[in-house]
Amino acid sequence: MIVAMLEHASEDQIQDVTDHLMRMGFAVHRTTGARQSVLAAVGKRIDFDTRDLEVLSGVEKVHRISAPYKLVGRQFRGHDTVVKLGNGTEIGGKEVVVMAGPCSVESREQIFLSAEQVAKAGAKVLRGGAFKPRSSPYSFQGMGLDGLKLLREAADAHGLMVISEVMEISQIEPMLPYIDIFQVGARNMQNFNLLRELGKIRKPVLMKRGIAATIEEMLLSAEYIMSGGNYDVIFCERGIRTFETYTRNTLDISAIPIVHKLSHLPITSDPSHGTGLRDKVAPMACASVAAGADALLLEVHPDPDHALSDGAQSMFPQQFAELMNQLRMIAPAVGRSIG
Ligand code: PEP
Ligand code: MN
Repeated sequence: MIVAMLEHASEDQIQDVTDHLMRMGFAVHRTTGARQSVLAAVGKRIDFDTRDLEVLSGVEKVHRISAPYKLVGRQFRGHDTVVKLGNGTEIGGKEVVVMAGPCSVESREQIFLSAEQVAKAGAKVLRGGAFKPRSSPYSFQGMGLDGLKLLREAADAHGLMVISEVMEISQIEPMLPYIDIFQVGARNMQNFNLLRELGKIRKPVLMKRGIAATIEEMLLSAEYIMSGGNYDVIFCERGIRTFETYTRNTLDISAIPIVHKLSHLPITSDPSHGTGLRDKVAPMACASVAAGADALLLEVHPDPDHALSDGAQSMFPQQFAELMNQLRMIAPAVGRSIG
């Protein structure tokens, strides 16, 4: 951390700040310039708040140099993390993995048809919510465990892996036998108790970016899971809330290269929730792959106009198949492949 003192800071003030930094466990190196003094604080500690120093008398500005996280950062691992799934699918490797399916599991017929359609087009993972975090308590809340069982059956019938959302700690145990990836929804990115529990299990976790979360906050949330010993964490950019109202959210594609620079963990893009509009999903999926996304999470429904949730952003199966063909052209241009 670098502490720049005000031009007119007194020697006493500089000494006070130096003492404060030393009490925090830092070694302090002072540089006295012609106009101002600068204190460089060096140490292993990362759990500090720069504002604690900014409020001391005589301080002009404090710059943090080290990241506030350890395990998710590139300094922890020199190579990219590759999350391995049961059927040999790897997220974070050369192949861009496509996870597709309906927003919610609605019926046996709907999920079996979905699995068949997305598998045929090249998806490797079947998505489908069984526990749904709906904005209104009067909306369809999901089929629960029964939906999860159907999701597993449908996926197995077509050689697919399964991703589904976990909303609370009590759901982890019952979900374990049926899923391959736990999805943490945008609304739960800062449910630290849930994240801690997911750190104790040994199954991949796809953690979505919160609706108003900074990239650093997203990295710190993943640190909760990793610090419990579960290193198979996958980020997911699913759009953030901005002043723009045309789309449901604003898909922050720049988060993809930024996360890749800061972290060794893979990142998924979810242009379905990112745009909220079916016809905007394909272009944003293409852009995400071009920007380096390791996976895509896409809502596809056999009959979107009658979907019980997120119909407007769910692609028709034919649209999805066409998108997959487009992605097969884009992926090789950025050194990737697609199923
Ligand atoms: C979902 O994937 O259906 C979902 C609810 O996503 P999010 O948490 O991004 O809103
Ligand atoms: Mn949805």
